[in-house]
Amino acid sequence: MRFLPVFLDLQVGDVLLVGGGEPARTKLRLLAAAGARIRWFATDGDHDLGDLENVDAARIELAEGDPLVADLNGVIAVACAGAGDVGLAMSVRARALGLPVNVMDDLAHSTFIFPAIVDRGDVVVAVGTGGASPVVARRVRERIEALLPARIGDLAGFIGRWRKQIQGRLPELSLRRRFWERVIDGPIGALVLAGRADEAEAALKEIRDPAAFAGERAQGRAEGNVTLVGAGPGDPDLLTVKALRALQDADVIFYDELVTPEILDRARRDASRVAVGRRAGKAGIGQEAINQLLIDAAKSGQRAVRLKGGDGFVFGRGGEEVEALRAANVAYSVIPGITAGLGAAAEFEVPLTFRREALAITFLTAHRTGDADAIDWSAFDDGKTTVVIYMGMTAAASVRLGLLAAGRSPQTPVGVFARVTRPDSQSAVGILDDLPALVDKVDGGPAILIIGDVVARSAPWRHQNLSHVISELLETAA
Ligand code: SAH
Repeated sequence: MRFLPVFLDLQVGDVLLVGGGEPARTKLRLLAAAGARIRWFATDGDHDLGDLENVDAARIELAEGDPLVADLNGVIAVACAGAGDVGLAMSVRARALGLPVNVMDDLAHSTFIFPAIVDRGDVVVAVGTGGASPVVARRVRERIEALLPARIGDLAGFIGRWRKQIQGRLPELSLRRRFWERVIDGPIGALVLAGRADEAEAALKEIRDPAAFAGERAQGRAEGNVTLVGAGPGDPDLLTVKALRALQDADVIFYDELVTPEILDRARRDASRVAVGRRAGKAGIGQEAINQLLIDAAKSGQRAVRLKGGDGFVFGRGGEEVEALRAANVAYSVIPGITAGLGAAAEFEVPLTFRREALAITFLTAHRTGDADAIDWSAFDDGKTTVVIYMGMTAAASVRLGLLAAGRSPQTPVGVFARVTRPDSQSAVGILDDLPALVDKVDGGPAILIIGDVVARSAPWRHQNLSHVISELLETAA
């Protein structure tokens, strides 16, 4: 570490800015946003402020003359951007005076450098690479941006307003720290992050005995919660930002057989992981038992995540779990995931709706032949409805019969999309009449069936047609 990150108070003096063009204006924007008073020497003589939205022009002094001999009284730092040789000379002058100086893109002439910044009000994150690579710093910043809740600054501000008072009531440091941890990690913090600061304020006021509130955690009686998280169809990059955050916060994760190891890799390292789904033909522990595990985990003060493939509310029994949690008085929240049908559509370019061709989508499950036989297929006779079928591999023959009986054409395009968004994903496309044979073409599930004219617009359909054309051409040539 060559440069120590510090936060500079810009209220106590002026920043001297030397330079011109867009580089200088970029620095102007940044410094002005931090509340600096700026003396700007435009080395190209052009004091055009450009499009400086939200910048208080009164804080910018358009300085005239030569910065190399200008009075530096009251200056606390010097920044040069787009200043050419004047910047280098200015750096020598600033250093002689002991003033911190930055020359843009010139480490040798800088005694401080500007980090990449995440700015969320009271919460500011600075990322540096010692000047080695601003691009890497920006990438890191993007990752942090994605991880931080949007209202993290509000949370800091909220705590800042209450700090003094709680300090008076809880002089003991470690207890106070536990108090704030509980506030941040618990329902009050969640309320602030959800934009419900008034309710958070009321909840905080309601804490009559802050010591007990803080101590509870130490004795393991803190209130835990359950977050129902949709993990998406397999690709870990398809987790939502919120899902990732929940995984990073979790004490314990109860996951299904559909959740891939790559997704579990994104969870907090020391969270315990409990498989509760069916495994290779072995029955799972059952819904009742899962409900009980969730309730017990929350009641023992843990932050539990219930992690499900796709979306928890699409053939995921999330509804039952939420009802059980409610009945047990356990705090919970729900984070949606990308359901497998949408993952299949995106990966294989099946537009589920298409102008006049497909006006509606039906998601249905045909788990066993029995289920498929019980479905009233006549409801799916409309050729303008795209039918997306979950758990339909074993019931493919019944699905075919049902849709044909409903009056769908045997020529209707269909696709079988297996293990979508995973590295080994596969597809088979053809016509409704051949559906059972198509299912056999993919090497195992899980798979989504999509039935409807739009399948003819999918990537595998286009490629298949192309290979037909090519083989025909080759045959004619031979
Ligand atoms: N809640 C899940 C669905 C669970 S039901 C979701 O929203 O996606 C299980 C069925 O989902 C499987 O039988 C299969 O039809 C489908 N499925 C889940 N993951 C899949 C994947 N990666 N590729 C194809 N189908 C998948």
